[in-house]
Amino acid sequence: MTRNTKQKQEVYGALCALGHPTATEVYAYLQAHGSTVSRGTVFRVLVGFAEEGKIRRLSFAGSDMRYDATLSPHAHAHCVLCGGVTDVPLPKSISELRIDGFEVYGLEAEISGVCEKCARG
Ligand SMILES: [Zn+2]
Ligand SMILES: [Zn+2]
Repeated sequence: MTRNTKQKQEVYGALCALGHPTATEVYAYLQAHGSTVSRGTVFRVLVGFAEEGKIRRLSFAGSDMRYDATLSPHAHAHCVLCGGVTDVPLPKSISELRIDGFEVYGLEAEISGVCEKCARG
């Protein structure tokens, strides 16, 4: 296995373990797990995956770019206080959306609010 492939696998593994991390969070996770992948490599690998359509890029107001390894249609509930992101399954009727003369490739939905943890605190 090439060094490059191993680094890609490490970044992808961290992404899956973390859910919806920023590049900085992926880097911190890899550091904590003894990886020697550099911050620049983490960033390059994430951008490459997004361009290949392997992962999704999520941009929320007031937050760094986040990455998501789950490609099936789902919405995101974004907490405006802690920046946490929760997956929200979409009702079937929306994911089977039909628009005349328009080929639907995907659906992005962002729900903003305050998560349970922040509402309690
Ligand atoms: Zn929160
Ligand atoms: Zn997601």
